[in-house]
Amino acid sequence: MTYTMGIDIGSSACKAVILKDADEIVGTFKVAVGTGTSGPDRAFQGVLEAAHLSEEQIDYVLATGYGRNTFARADAQMSELSCHAKGAYFLFPDVRTVIDIGGQDVKVIQIDHGAMVNFQMNDKCAAGTGRFLDVMAGILEVDVSDLAGLAAKSTKRIAISSTCTVFAESEVISQLATGEKKEDIVNGIHYAITARVVGLARRVGIRDRVVMTGGVAQNEGVVKALQDQLEHEVFTSPLSQYVGALGAGLYAHSKAKRK
Ligand code: ADP
Repeated sequence: MTYTMGIDIGSSACKAVILKDADEIVGTFKVAVGTGTSGPDRAFQGVLEAAHLSEEQIDYVLATGYGRNTFARADAQMSELSCHAKGAYFLFPDVRTVIDIGGQDVKVIQIDHGAMVNFQMNDKCAAGTGRFLDVMAGILEVDVSDLAGLAAKSTKRIAISSTCTVFAESEVISQLATGEKKEDIVNGIHYAITARVVGLARRVGIRDRVVMTGGVAQNEGVVKALQDQLEHEVFTSPLSQYVGALGAGLYAHSKAKRK
């Protein structure tokens, strides 16, 4: 029996998964703070407790994500692109396109039989990433987890025309000042973020099945806006935010076997 851990040390959250023999997920744990904080150690301890295992029982730990090279407890590191492709393929064996929207970047990965064949990434600008939603939620005085519920109540979409997060922030403030409803503004925000992502996806080429990964996949309003604009069905899983960590755990299993 082999137990392996994948830990995804992101910019805004740390996610960890423990796998038994690369086919059973025996624990998951996430902490809503990222690299440079106590998040990685808390995620490591938290997932051990969730799986009722001790550190000594883990055969291999593989780290991925923005902060992967600063986590001393990992046996190896691997890029998020490979890990997201691997994790998405485990959950959806017929996946061809992965759209990962995380806290500070967005990646579109084209997959063929589980292997990455092409990708595009935006890590230069907050627009099109979770950061955009975090900033907008802050102005609207709501939690990011409330955005989908608000958008579901919307009866019209307020267009957010600025592509820059800072200018879009001013636009949202003026919309609030003119009395527009929060739900309609949120609806517009969802379409603004996905418009950026669709541009990136078109450069890679969109093939079914399209799977969305990363923390933002928990926002059904963004998933719906993405579907509308991509004109493809977009699949998510309750494990969407863990896909990178899951892929890391699967690679850890291959490494443990070779060890
Ligand atoms: P990273 O790997 O860069 O840390 P994640 O893939 O973990 O990023 O995604 C973090 C983003 O997910 C946050 O910026 C936030 O916008 C979004 N998010 C986190 N939790 C939720 C939630 N419960 N509902 C909707 N969005 C969420």
